Amino acid sequence: MPQEFDAIVVGAGFAGLYALYRLRERGHTVRVLEAASDIGGTWFHNRYPGARCDIESLQYSYSFSGEVEQEWDWTERYAGQPEILRYIHHVADRFDLRRDIRLNAQAVAAVFDEARHKWRIETGDGEAYSAAFCIMATGCLSVPLDPAIPGLGEFAGDIYRTVDWPHDGVDFTGRRAGIVGTGSSAIQAIPIVAEAAGELTVFQRTANYVIPAHNRPLDEAERADWKRHYPARRAAARRTRNNALMDHNTRPGADMPPGEREAVLEARWQLGGLTFSYGFPDQATDRRVNEAAADFVRRKIAGRVGDPETARKLMPRDHPLGSKRLCVDTEYFEAFNRPNVRLVDLREEALVAVEAAGVRTERTLYPLDALILATGFDAMTGALSRIDPKGRGGRSLREKWRVRPSTLLGLAVAGFPNLFLVTGPGSPSVLSNMVTSAEQNIDWIAACLDYLRANGVVEIEARAEAEDAWFEEVAAASARTLLPEGDSWYVGANVPDKPRVYMPYLGGVPAYLDACEKAAADGYNAFALTPADPAVAAE
Ligand code: NAP
Repeated sequence: MPQEFDAIVVGAGFAGLYALYRLRERGHTVRVLEAASDIGGTWFHNRYPGARCDIESLQYSYSFSGEVEQEWDWTERYAGQPEILRYIHHVADRFDLRRDIRLNAQAVAAVFDEARHKWRIETGDGEAYSAAFCIMATGCLSVPLDPAIPGLGEFAGDIYRTVDWPHDGVDFTGRRAGIVGTGSSAIQAIPIVAEAAGELTVFQRTANYVIPAHNRPLDEAERADWKRHYPARRAAARRTRNNALMDHNTRPGADMPPGEREAVLEARWQLGGLTFSYGFPDQATDRRVNEAAADFVRRKIAGRVGDPETARKLMPRDHPLGSKRLCVDTEYFEAFNRPNVRLVDLREEALVAVEAAGVRTERTLYPLDALILATGFDAMTGALSRIDPKGRGGRSLREKWRVRPSTLLGLAVAGFPNLFLVTGPGSPSVLSNMVTSAEQNIDWIAACLDYLRANGVVEIEARAEAEDAWFEEVAAASARTLLPEGDSWYVGANVPDKPRVYMPYLGGVPAYLDACEKAAADGYNAFALTPADPAVAAE
C-alpha cells in the first residue's frame, strides 16, 4: 500500500526544502523524496574545485525568514559551494525539515489516478506514495549530459564529472589532466586545476563571453547594512528583471556616442559578474549595442592572454553576448598564461575519440591521466522528462514536451492535474535569482492549495488554451531579443532532438509576477477546477 500524504515534493534542494516548510506550515502532510544521499540539490552534487554561485550571496539566499537573514553571516560576495551547502543544512536543521525528507529515494514514476484524484509516485528503492498534489522541485540543471564522444569507456585514466565530483576531492599533483567544456562549470574549475596539475589541456568547442567576478570577502559593515535593509531590498529586487539588485542601467546604448558607451562597459566590467548583462537595456535587442559589448569583452581577452594566437581562439564570435549564459570567472584567462596549460580549439581540430591513452583529435593524440567532463545538462525539462509523469488518460509529459515544452506560467501543465512545477520552462527561473524565484513559485502554489481546500476543489488543471496563450507570450518575449540565436541549453541545442524553443520567460520578473497574481486573483480562471464528488467525499 502506498504511503499517503497531502503533497509529495520531489527534490530537496533550495526549492524542495522551502516547499516542505511552507506546506507544512499551512497544515499539509508532506513527504520530500530526494534521489541523493543528502539534501542540497545542485549544491550537494556540484563540488568541483572553484564551484561558486554567481548571484551575490546576500541575495542568493532565502527571503522567507527574517531570523535566518539576521543570523547567517555570508563570508564572501559570491559564496562557494561548501558555504552554500552549510547554509542549506542550517536552514533544514533550524526548521526541523529532515524528519519529512526521504533520502536515496529517486522518483522513477508518477501516475495520476483520475478516479481518486491522486498522484501515485514510485521510488527506485521500491516504495510507493500517494498524494493529492505532486510538486516537482527537480531543478533546472540537475540532469548531467555525458558528451557523445566515442571511446569514453576505453580511457585508462580517471574520468571526473564536475556534476558529481568526489566528495574527498581529487589530487591532480603531477598528473596530465584534460577538460572537455568551457561553460560556467569548467571556467571555474580550470584555474584551480591548472595550479595543481602537472599539465592541463582544455578542449574548447565554443569560446564564451566571460566576465570577472571580482569576488572578495564581505566585511561586517556590509553585512550589517544588508541586515538592516533586507525587507526593502528583497522587495526592490522583485521589481527588477531578474529578482536581484544588480544596478540595472536604464539608458539605451544605441544612441550613445561610442566613447560614452565604452565608459559604461568599463564601469560594468569593474562591477563584474552578471551585472554585465544589464549595461544597456537594449543590449539584448539591438545588434549594434550587443556587438559593442561583445567586442569590448574580446578586447579584454586580448589584454589578459599573453599569446595572441591563444587569445584569438578564446574570443567568442559566433553568437550574441548573452545568448549563451554569461560565464563569471576568477583568473580564467590568466590560466592560459601558465606554461602547463594548453588550449585545443575543437573547431580547428575536431575531437575524434577518447582512447586508452588520452584524447585524439584530427591532428594528434593528447596523452592524459585524468579527464574532466564539464559538458552541461539536459536543462529545464530533463529531470521531469526522465520521471515522465503520466497525466489524464495516461498521457506522457515526456511525449508532450517532445513537441514543445509548454506550460502555464512554468507552474502547471494541461493534461496533468494537481501537478505543480517549480521554476519550470516558461518562467523566468534560470534568468533570475533561483532561490527567491523558487520561493515565489512555492508561495503561489501554497496559496492555490489553500484556495482549493477552502472551496472543496479536488482537481486543478491548466486549461489548454491558457497554456497555449502563455506559450505564445513566452515565445514573443524571446523573439524580441537576439538571445534565441545562440546554440545554448536555453534553447535545448545541446540535447539531440530536443525542440528548439527558448525555454525561460524573458519578459522579466515583474511581468511574470503580475501574470501569476492575475491567475490567482481571478479565481484561477485559466485552470479547470473540479469540485469534490459528494459520493466519493462521503466514503
Ligand atoms: P554548459 O554551460 O552547458 O557547458 C558545457 C560545455 O561543454 C560547453 O562548453 C560545451 O560546448 C561543451 N561540450 C558539451 N558537449 C561537448 C562535446 N561533445 N565536445 C566538446 N565540448 C562539449 O554547462 P555548465 O558549464 O555545467 O553550466 C551549465 C549552467 O549551470 C550554466 O550556464 C549556469 O546557468 C549554471 N552554472 C552556474 C554556475 C555559477 O553560478 N557560477 C556555475 C556552474 C554552472 P558548446 O558550447 O559548444 O556546446
